[in-house]
Amino acid sequence: MNPFIKYISGIFTALKALIGGLRVTWRELWRKKVTMQYPENRETLVISDRWRSELHMPHDENNEHACTACGICMNNCPNGTIKVTSNMEETEDGKKKRVLDKYVWDYGTCTFCNLCVITCPSDAIQFNNDFEGAMYDRSKLIRQLNKPGSKLREKEKVEKPAAPAKEAAKPTEAPAKKEEKKEIAPEAKKADEKSSDKENK
Ligand code: SF4
Ligand code: SF4
Repeated sequence: MNPFIKYISGIFTALKALIGGLRVTWRELWRKKVTMQYPENRETLVISDRWRSELHMPHDENNEHACTACGICMNNCPNGTIKVTSNMEETEDGKKKRVLDKYVWDYGTCTFCNLCVITCPSDAIQFNNDFEGAMYDRSKLIRQLNKPGSKLREKEKVEKPAAPAKEAAKPTEAPAKKEEKKEIAPEAKKADEKSSDKENK
């Protein structure tokens, strides 16, 4: 191809591509916006409930939690992210009881697999859906989840219903067996009659 013609054709190809790009830009300029302005929209931003961010241990208004310090979550954590320490205390009735001392969770090594939450028999821990977990100090990643002075929430004792009355005593004697009538065969009956006739003669 002639170099001049090639040069001119290159200019037209570039112009065509430029016009195509500008057409897309013009079209998008008038469409409804789907992007969000963060952090300006922080107050109205809605994060899905399924988003797992930070593990926490809910405490009620009496500073009580549901963790029995059983250690199941710690044993199920694949990363060794949870450390549960406990003390043995004596109850009023003289029994020994395990009491939570410290529940420590490491945000830095957690993979948010949720195994700890699923396997907890007391529903004592949950993930919240906070989304701003960035920080400058690594030491803040290690957190104690049980609050100072908190204690285990006592379960309300449920009174067992009274046992149902025993059924009336069943008769111990077995029912009398019906007498079985033995049917005598007709041939045997005749033989008997003959023998009795001979005896009479
Ligand atoms: S979410 Fe998974 S990795 Fe994180 S603490 Fe629980 S069990 Fe461990
Ligand atoms: S959080 Fe649940 S599984 Fe973990 S120690 Fe407490 S009661 Fe046990």
